[in-house]
Amino acid sequence: EAKSQGKSCARLFAPYMRENASSRLQLERDLRQALECNEFELNFQPLVRLPTRDLVGFEALIRWRHPQMGMVLPANFIELAEETGLIVPISLWVLRQACRQQVQWKRQFPDLRCLKISINVSRRQVMHSDLTADLAEVIAETGIAPRELKLEISESTIMEDAEHGIGLLNDLRRLGVEVAIDDFGTGFSSLSCLHRLPLDSLKIDQSFVGTMASSRESRMIVGTIIALAEQLGLDVVAEGIETELQQNLLSEMGCVLGQGFLYSPPVAIGDADAMLRKQFAAGNSLPLPVTGFA
Ligand code: C2E
Ligand code: MG
Ligand code: MG
Ligand code: MG
Repeated sequence: EAKSQGKSCARLFAPYMRENASSRLQLERDLRQALECNEFELNFQPLVRLPTRDLVGFEALIRWRHPQMGMVLPANFIELAEETGLIVPISLWVLRQACRQQVQWKRQFPDLRCLKISINVSRRQVMHSDLTADLAEVIAETGIAPRELKLEISESTIMEDAEHGIGLLNDLRRLGVEVAIDDFGTGFSSLSCLHRLPLDSLKIDQSFVGTMASSRESRMIVGTIIALAEQLGLDVVAEGIETELQQNLLSEMGCVLGQGFLYSPPVAIGDADAMLRKQFAAGNSLPLPVTGFA
């Protein structure tokens, strides 16, 4: 649809004041209008197989193109969106947009056997919204293959109410979508709980990956998470890989999937298209499914 240029989206140019209540209010007011003004967009970060770098999927990451502030990263508005409840419609937009894009890519590249799209699920979606019903609706509407849609839920969110989490994850499994625990290693999972969760993968938090070359402790934690995933029959994905050294350490430890600036930062749709085309040109036209090959 065309970018909305409507009068309702015209805004006064109020200078943003530093760190005070009025700048927060301003931001909140802007956030309320951002959806109808089409100011959100998705960036896509490739998920690759180590060490060949074959593309196996993308993680969709939201960006806010603010009319005065320019590109705003999620760290600067997701919390506010959670507090105000705006996260619910925003998340629904992300879900719908990501599924549409994935379906379009499959159409554009018919030889793609499997291309996973991952989206991040917010705390409020897990705790207070009808995530399962929303998903069922968007799956039906877009025609995405559910097993090619992956939901990333942070470890701290899922562990906040483990019983609720188990129920939700069972519902998600019934829908056929995959679930990854995001930022794993930072959320104090109890092991007894973890084995009861119907999961597909663990994403090792980037703080451990980022320090593993210099810190024995980080290496130990990463190794433990990889072993744990193996024991539980889960895939493991390392996030935040920035150097060859980190990649090589991870590969030696048995980690098969990764994401990070070493391969690509999150990119706009056009660049993601180009990556898919390049993958075809290189003859790697059949990325294998992410699950089941760890
Ligand atoms: P996340 O899901 O853990 O996403 C990974 C973040 O790490 C992304 O930041 C990504 O750009 C960044 N990253 C990727 N590779 C590297 C690397 O090699 N080095 C470093 N230093 N960083 C890397 P981003 O896009 O700013 O997102 C931050 C967080 O915001 C995400 O963390 C996720 O929790 C949340 N988020 C992003 N998009 C959405 C969304 O659509 N909905 C919800 N609810 N949350 C979102
Ligand atoms: Mg994530
Ligand atoms: Mg993460
Ligand atoms: Mg993270």
